[in-house]
Formats: sequence, C-alpha cells, structure tokens
Amino acid sequence: MPVKVRIDPRDACISDMVCVSICGDVFQMNEEDGKSEIVPQFRVSPDNNAEGVVPDDLKDCVQEAAESCPVNIIHVEEA
Ligand code: SF4
Repeated sequence: MPVKVRIDPRDACISDMVCVSICGDVFQMNEEDGKSEIVPQFRVSPDNNAEGVVPDDLKDCVQEAAESCPVNIIHVEEA
C-alpha cells in the first residue's frame, strides 16, 4: 500500500534537515525558503510541495522521519 505524507504546517519547519538525512528519497530542502518539501517525483500535484504519495518500499523511512522530526509536522497515513 502506498502511503500519504504531509508536511503540515510546513511553515513550522526549523530546517534542521533531519527528515532529509533519514529519508532523502522523499524529502529535500527548498532552495528558496530553506524548509523541507516533498521531492517533485512524489508530489500529489506539481504546485503542492507539502503533500505526497510514496510507494510502500519508502514507508519505513517516511515513518522514521515523521517520528524524528523535532517539531512533529510530518504526518503519514495509508493512501
Ligand atoms: S525534520 Fe521536521 S523540522 Fe527538520 S527539516 Fe524535516 S520537516 Fe523540517
């Protein structure tokens, strides 16, 4: 089962790159505002960088990133 991942509220990201270091296949840092975003490949729509759907094999790393985010803004649910 693919999983849905949201960065919400994305404005609250403190840019420590924890999610990127744990799960760089799914998260990257936005070059303009310096906050985490979903990589383009997995976005639900091209203009929404805070919501994605990722395949099952990335579920564990997304989950670990969610549990490790110091401000708890990464949310994972079954797609
Ligand atoms: S782990 Fe959380 S606070 Fe850190 S960069 Fe990722 S979304 Fe932002």
